[in-house]
Amino acid sequence: MTSQYIINKYNNKVYISLKEGLDIYKNMPLTDLMFAANEIRESLHNKKIVTWQIDRNVNISNICFVQCEFCNFCRKKDSTDAHTTSIEEYRIKIKELFELGGDQLLLQGGMNPALGLNFYVALFKTLKQEFPKLKLHALGPPEIAYLAKKEKLTYLQVLETLINVGLDSLPGAGAEILNNRVRTKLSKGKCSVEEWLNVMRAAHKMGLYTSATMMFGHIETIEERLQHLIYIRDVQSEKPKNAPGFNAFIPWPVQLQDTKLQNKISIQNVTGSEYLRLLAISRIMLPNIPNIQASWLTVGKNIAQIALHAGANDLGSIMIEENVVSAAGATFTITANEMKQLIIDAGFEPKQRNQKYQIVESL
Ligand code: SF4
Repeated sequence: MTSQYIINKYNNKVYISLKEGLDIYKNMPLTDLMFAANEIRESLHNKKIVTWQIDRNVNISNICFVQCEFCNFCRKKDSTDAHTTSIEEYRIKIKELFELGGDQLLLQGGMNPALGLNFYVALFKTLKQEFPKLKLHALGPPEIAYLAKKEKLTYLQVLETLINVGLDSLPGAGAEILNNRVRTKLSKGKCSVEEWLNVMRAAHKMGLYTSATMMFGHIETIEERLQHLIYIRDVQSEKPKNAPGFNAFIPWPVQLQDTKLQNKISIQNVTGSEYLRLLAISRIMLPNIPNIQASWLTVGKNIAQIALHAGANDLGSIMIEENVVSAAGATFTITANEMKQLIIDAGFEPKQRNQKYQIVESL
């Protein structure tokens, strides 16, 4: 298999199969893989531009019944530091966000069983009434699947209710590895593969912008990683013609510091070259997902810069606040100016974007 073989398949609009993907992933030199991924990236995007964003992650609560093996953030409800974010705290965080030039909250769990659909409706309504320009990139398939079960509603009904009170887009959170063997071992209380994909199918029918993610480098096999990509690709192929569907794919290596999983099994950290290999094969196997995002937060700035030559066209957000992967050891931070310089130093022109990947006026 050569990079030209991959590029020919891409030009002929033929997907790389699982078998071909495995051969490429395991046997192709990294430089060839990066070359092919970069060719695809350049055919989809202006080759000089790398996009980035300003948003703020806020966790609705740290109380979570799921208790994933890789999570060092969640708390039980009677824990002394159990916390649910108050409206006053949101106000302060949103004002800071606007001052820093962002307009979007990435609102995520934990999945606090005390919070039903009415809680989220009231929260979204209040935030949108007080801050009409605020964008809510909120929850994710595990929360939507949980709320549907709890309220005895369909995914479409839950999503419609939330869209009506201000949900702007749905993050691809909680995908980890889309494989039920892995999910049963690591995050038993979370939705299954089928539920995750079906929530996304419903979101695409509702016309929501969504993203897809992968947290890799733990107990999954290479084949399970590539099958994950194929699930995403297939759901994207089914979306209604004019729906945006998944507008980005974001893979990142698991962070395990002080987690239950770290104490149970020995897991080798994902190396820079392994990350680049995964990123490049993602670009190659997901030709119907427009954007591939490099995760500076988990791999560091230097590897993130190289990732821009391995298929990634976006560096994600400066993340004014991030709590979940940071609690498990991801400690990198970045300012807007540093983000722009990082992109310039990698040989590109930085452009600030919104969640729809539209270029916005930079700071
Ligand atoms: S990763 Fe998310 S769903 Fe899993 S335990 Fe932590 S907060 Fe809960």
